[in-house]
Amino acid sequence: MPEELRLRGRLFLDAEIHAVTGLHIGGAGGKVAIGGVDSPVIRDPITDEPILPGSSLKGKMRSLLERWGGYEPNHPIGQARIHVCQSPDRYSNCPVCHIFGVPGELPFAYPTRLVVRDAFLTDGSREALRRADTDLPFTEVKWEAAIDRITSAAVPRQIERVPAGAVFRARRFGAPGAPDEAGALMVYHIYFPRDLDWFLHVVEAMGLVEDDYLGGYGSRGSGQVAFRRLRLGYKIAAPSALYPEAISWISRDPIPDLAEFRRALPALLDSIRPHIS
Ligand SMILES: [Zn+2]
Repeated sequence: MPEELRLRGRLFLDAEIHAVTGLHIGGAGGKVAIGGVDSPVIRDPITDEPILPGSSLKGKMRSLLERWGGYEPNHPIGQARIHVCQSPDRYSNCPVCHIFGVPGELPFAYPTRLVVRDAFLTDGSREALRRADTDLPFTEVKWEAAIDRITSAAVPRQIERVPAGAVFRARRFGAPGAPDEAGALMVYHIYFPRDLDWFLHVVEAMGLVEDDYLGGYGSRGSGQVAFRRLRLGYKIAAPSALYPEAISWISRDPIPDLAEFRRALPALLDSIRPHIS
């Protein structure tokens, strides 16, 4: 086990999430959905706009990375099962458990490396959807035939979706128009130098999501997403220094898509490596 647990710094990955097809991320339907659709999307309770919860994206990234790596799903979480290393030996070499976390009660575990923020409609998408005269505010209603399991009859069902073309982004918290507007979709913690190399798996998981889907009804076309306009930055400082105020963005201009970002990533990480003591 490595010695001292010290937060050496953080990576910041900012990206837009584009709905390539209609996106259905289900809400709990607490205040029974407007329009009474059978399957509503999750909305921000204050603005009433659809949101893309960080937990949905992070959970999908984890489950696809587990499947790709052949990790045994041995731990029940709600109705699903995830992989959790059961011994310190296995854990010490497992990127999935380090990046995505393990249940808090495991005595040998370090803090989760990856934080995925909630994403919100961009200003442009909000305006476009307002102008588009959608079925419900910001969303469309798609009819699907559900099969009644007892009678085998096709029952029409209304699915609410965020229309294709909508763009989501993590919320900024810097002053509008400030040169280094803060905020990023993902924050990744670096405790040990090896964490920097394992960041590759975060980006790998994003690629797995692009070829799969987010939310519900994916096998019938919903939920195809693409990551666009990606930027990598960091806050890293020597042990005695103060925690940096601003993110140091490596590339001034965003990288247009995930494939190009993955090609650039080894060089980007190499440029950060010397800062980690
Ligand atoms: Zn593991």
